[in-house]
Amino acid sequence: MKAKPEPYKIKMVEPIRLIPRSQREARLQSAHYNIFNLKSDDVFIDLLTDSGTGAMSDSQWAGIMLGDESYAGSRSFYRLEQTCREIFGHEYIVPVHQGRGAENVLFSLLIEPGQAVIGNYHFDTTQAHIELKKGLGVNLVVEEAFDTAREHDFKGNIDTGRLADMIQREGAGRIAFILLTVTCNSVGGQPVALENIRQTRRLADRYGLRLFLDAARFAENAWFIKLREEGYAAKSVTEIVREMFACADGFVMSAKKDGLVNIGGLIGIKSDRDLYNRVRARMVPLEGFPTYGGLAGRDLEALARGLREVVDESYLEARTTQVAFLAGKLAELGVPIQQPAGGHAVFVDAGKFLPQIPPHQFPGQALACQLYLEAGIRGVEVGSFMLGRDPITGQQRFSPLEFLRLAIPRRVYTDNHMAYVAEALGNIYRRRDSVRGVRIVEEEAVLRHFTARLEMV
Ligand SMILES: *Cc1c(COP(=O)(O)O)cnc(C)c1O
Repeated sequence: MKAKPEPYKIKMVEPIRLIPRSQREARLQSAHYNIFNLKSDDVFIDLLTDSGTGAMSDSQWAGIMLGDESYAGSRSFYRLEQTCREIFGHEYIVPVHQGRGAENVLFSLLIEPGQAVIGNYHFDTTQAHIELKKGLGVNLVVEEAFDTAREHDFKGNIDTGRLADMIQREGAGRIAFILLTVTCNSVGGQPVALENIRQTRRLADRYGLRLFLDAARFAENAWFIKLREEGYAAKSVTEIVREMFACADGFVMSAKKDGLVNIGGLIGIKSDRDLYNRVRARMVPLEGFPTYGGLAGRDLEALARGLREVVDESYLEARTTQVAFLAGKLAELGVPIQQPAGGHAVFVDAGKFLPQIPPHQFPGQALACQLYLEAGIRGVEVGSFMLGRDPITGQQRFSPLEFLRLAIPRRVYTDNHMAYVAEALGNIYRRRDSVRGVRIVEEEAVLRHFTARLEMV
């Protein structure tokens, strides 16, 4: 059989509604052309993020009823800990309220002012937490990631040659740690090969550095390794996940993605008991007692179940097939996208789509506005608008790629929804010459894209 149906059926539905074009125009204007300011009721299909927007299973909902809400030593925590030890092979597991909570706790212990954190490409909150601790985020993703038309199996890989050069040049003392984001969200949900993780581990060992994973989409990454990397076709996703995590000293994870829950996160530490003790002590003032970490007992229970569900290969096949389905439709219409499709999203190359709009008028943001006006669909800019200003000079930084990200929530939309999204973008593509840019009229210093006000040029 060629058709690959989802390994689940729908038990409950949530109505969505498309408001008329004239209302969409008014809503976007009162949102100051920032799609984060739109009310979800005014959005028809919401591809803003795949974070915390997935549908839980019947088993997860049943688990919600079994959550143990004890302040300390919750039964649900021990179930989560056991699950994580089995899946990731790390000894110490600490829940947090979401991924950035993990970043806050761990980075505050490991980054000295002026030290660099080198990675393939840091996520926006990760970069922000590095900068809040007076560190410097350095992105060394492979060159191929920036050529969206070029097919490459592992565009999330870190350039190990440049990594070695930089460690030698700066000296290991100037580097806090290495952080590999799997999959690499910022360049298109692109996977990192196991060989690349291993090489990075060897470099870390040579220079006495720690290696962490930012593991929000660990299962999608493992699935791509199984499909694309030589020698892994016969291994199970569970085995591949174990091999990935065996290379790391620890991990930070937003569980709102591959954890298949609406809220939650994790810190994992492979074996360093001293580091774990420091994390535990820092947890109490920042996130909460280390057996609940800012979550309810029921959240811990749902997460333990979600982590087991996400490594199911028939789920991962259906998931990535849906993302590829949208990418294929867009490619047929001539819409330029990051090739190949990522694990969680299709990244439209807005710089190529709207070549008449200069980077300082944010083509990705302009396209996000158009897509909402056209069809009530919400995507998000991942480019210079999100990158923001240099924390030292205050100058606008320019991203090598200007993307509109269409992130697909897990187990939520059907392929019909995807076909509608493709048609809408196709319509805009045909009249692309008439699309104008946007400019910022009000902004905050850190993570401005969430709150900034804009206007159309
Ligand atoms: C979402 C995400 C984070 C931050 O996690 P939150 O749960 O949103 O706080 C960090 N890194 C990556 C790669 C992410 O995708």
